[in-house]
Amino acid sequence: MACDRTHSCICGQMRWHIARNAPGTHLVCYCEDCQTAARFLKHQTTRLDSDGGSEIFQTLPAFFEFLDGRDHLAVLRLGPKGLLRWHAGCCGTPIANTLPTPTLPFVGAILPPGADGYGPIRALVNTVGTASHIKETGVLAAHLSIMGRILRARLPGGKRSSPFFDRTGAPVAVPRILSQQERNAARPG
Ligand SMILES: [Zn+2]
Ligand SMILES: [Zn+2]
Repeated sequence: MACDRTHSCICGQMRWHIARNAPGTHLVCYCEDCQTAARFLKHQTTRLDSDGGSEIFQTLPAFFEFLDGRDHLAVLRLGPKGLLRWHAGCCGTPIANTLPTPTLPFVGAILPPGADGYGPIRALVNTVGTASHIKETGVLAAHLSIMGRILRARLPGGKRSSPFFDRTGAPVAVPRILSQQERNAARPG
């Protein structure tokens, strides 16, 4: 199923798709924030690998499309300055991360570990602080390719649309900002 880059939430009410021709970088992020978000949503078993990594495909939001259940789309932030962490409001399945505004078109689509259809994993990032032996790799190349895509998308005629923001630039769902208490309770221990 993942071969055609179509994904669904665990309860099946939401489905989304990443275009086959979407340019992007397939990586695994081990940062504490990604783990905290997955744990807060109670999806550490469905979306984190055994080392706490989140498998991510970084691409442009214009290539991301909701097929079903968009009404269920929900979003949280770990703090007032945090990324927008989009998820399925029906069952909590993590979907994607974006920056807080559409000015820099970027989406990190969160894949189930071992997802097919995105080519090999090109980078392991934010491994410092993980209990595992994993070494960071491919970070610079990943950053450069994100910046290149963002800059090209910002050119006239570039692909700037996003299913996560409305025409005024506001997120399509109201972000829930976690309290420090909620955030701390979900931190990986
Ligand atoms: Zn992360
Ligand atoms: Zn669901």
